[in-house]
Amino acid sequence: MTTANDLSQISEKARSFIHSQKGLFIDGQSRPASDGSTISVVDPSSGEEIARIADASAQDVDAAVGAARRALTDRAWVDMQPYRREALMLALAAAIEAEVESLAEIETLNSGKLIANTRLFDAELPVHSLRYVAGWASRLNGETMNLSVPYLPDLRFSGFTKRYPVGVVAAITPWNVPLCMAVWKLAPVLATGCTIVLKPAEQTSLTALRLAELCAEVGIPDGVINVITGRGASAGRMLVEHPGVDKINFTGSTEVGRGIAISAARSFKKYNLELGGKSPLIITETADLDQAIPGAAWAIYGNSGQNCCAGSRMLVHEKHYDAVLSGVREIAASLQLGPGLDPASQLAPLSSRMHRDRVALHVDAARAAGADVSGGEAVDGPGSYFTPAVIAGLDPDHPTAQEEIFGPVLCAFSFTSDEEAITLANQTRFGLGASVWTRDIDCADRYFDALQAGTVWINTHNILDLALPFGGDKESGVGLELGREGVLAHTKLRSGVKAHPKMR
Ligand code: NAP
Ligand code: MG
Repeated sequence: MTTANDLSQISEKARSFIHSQKGLFIDGQSRPASDGSTISVVDPSSGEEIARIADASAQDVDAAVGAARRALTDRAWVDMQPYRREALMLALAAAIEAEVESLAEIETLNSGKLIANTRLFDAELPVHSLRYVAGWASRLNGETMNLSVPYLPDLRFSGFTKRYPVGVVAAITPWNVPLCMAVWKLAPVLATGCTIVLKPAEQTSLTALRLAELCAEVGIPDGVINVITGRGASAGRMLVEHPGVDKINFTGSTEVGRGIAISAARSFKKYNLELGGKSPLIITETADLDQAIPGAAWAIYGNSGQNCCAGSRMLVHEKHYDAVLSGVREIAASLQLGPGLDPASQLAPLSSRMHRDRVALHVDAARAAGADVSGGEAVDGPGSYFTPAVIAGLDPDHPTAQEEIFGPVLCAFSFTSDEEAITLANQTRFGLGASVWTRDIDCADRYFDALQAGTVWINTHNILDLALPFGGDKESGVGLELGREGVLAHTKLRSGVKAHPKMR
C-alpha cells in the first residue's frame, strides 16, 4: 500500500510558488496565455491537481520568439563584455543554490521523483552546470592560420576565424530531469550571447517558470530568456517551425526528434537532438559482481528507469548469469515504493498514469511471450506506482527488449563470448549509452571500441559530467550537449582572409 505526498511537509517558499498564478514568461514579464487557456499540473503520487499552467497559443509563441529576437538585435546583450555575462551566470547559480530545497520540493511534487534525486540532479547539478559553463563566456575564441594560396604566389594571406552567437535558440525539454535539462539548455545560451525560448514538458513546467523568475531577479536582461508552457503538439511544434528561430536544442523521444529534424531541414535551422535509448549494460566474465550487481540495479531503477541512458538491457556472461539475475531480483524486490517527499522511499511513482499504462503494456507483452517476469505490477490505489520488473528469457528482438520503455523494467540476457555480447549490445536502433563491467583493462578497451554508443562507461553507468560532451549515436541523436562541444554548438564560426602585400 502506498501513500501520497504530504503537502504539509514542504517549505513555505515552495508552497507559495505552487499556489501562485503561473503565466508565460515573455520579455521579462509573466502573462496569461492570449486566449486564457490553462493546463492542469498533477502530483503523480496522488493524481491530484496541484497547479495550473498557461497553454501558449500561436500568438504567444510568436510574442516569445519576437522578444528573443529583439533582445538579440538590440545588441546590448550580444555586445555585453564576456566577464559580465559570466558574472550574471554566477549570480544565477548562487540564486538557485539559495533555493535548492524549495526547488527540489517543487520538482518532487510536480514530477513525482524522490526528493534526494530532485535535490541532487534538478537543484544542485544546475548550480554546478552554470558555474562550469559561465567560464566559457570569457574563453570563446577563434584561431589564426598561415595560408598557402598556391595559385596567387605574389600575395601573402592570413586566415582567421571568429565566433558569433548562433541566435535565437528554441529549447524543448522532457519531464524526467526537468530543471537540470532547462539549465543545460540555458547555460550555453547565456555564455555565448544567444537568446532562448524554452518550452518545458507540459507535465513538469513549474521549475522552469521559477528559473525564469530567478533570471529576472539576478538581472539577466528582458527578452534573453523566455519560457512558454504548453502542449508539444501545438506550442512545441509552432516554436520549432517559427521562422524567427535559428537553432533548436531538443531533448525527448526519437519519434518527436525525427519530426523536428524534418521540419528544421525545410528552413535549414541548426539543431541538436538528444533522443531515446535502450542502453546495454554488459557484465563480463571478469566483472567484480559485488560492484556489478548493485550497479546494474541502480542503472535501471535510478529515477524509476525514467533516464535516457537507463541500463535497460543487461547482458551477463553465462558463468555469472544466475547469480546476477537473482541478485538484481533481490534488490528490486527490496526497494520501498513511496511518495517522493518521504525520505524513506526508494522508488517513486512514475511520472503519470498514462505513462504507467504504457510501461505496463511492455511488461504484459513480455509475459504474453512466455518470458520469466518478476515484479512489473501497477500498484492499486492513487498515484502511478509501479513495482520494478526483471524480465528473463525474452527473445532479444522482442519489442519489449528493443523499444525504449522509460520505466523500471530490466530485460536480462546471457552470453557465452565477448563477440556475442557485442553483437547483442549493438543489436538496436539506438546508440545512447552502454556500460561494460570488467577487471580486465584490455577487455574494457575492446568493448569501448566496439560498442555503438555516444557514451561508454567502464565499471559504472549513467555518469554524466559537465566537462564531458554528451550525445547519441544512431537514432539516439544528432549533435552534442555539455562540455566544450555543447558550448561551441551555440556559436557560428566565420572564416576570414586578409591579403597583405608581400614582404620584401
Ligand atoms: P517527448 O514526448 O518527445 O517530449 C519531449 C518534449 O517535446 C516535451 O516538451 C514535449 O511537449 C515536446 N513535444 C512533443 N511533441 C512535439 C512536437 N511535435 N514538436 C515540438 N515539441 C514537441 O519525450 P518525453 O516523453 O517528454 O520524454 C521522454 C523521452 O525523452 C525519452 O525518449 C527519453 O529517452 C528522452 N530523453 C532523452 C535524453 C537525452 O539526453 N538523450 C534525456 C532525457 C530524456 P509535451 O510535454 O507537451 O508533450
Ligand atoms: Mg511524451
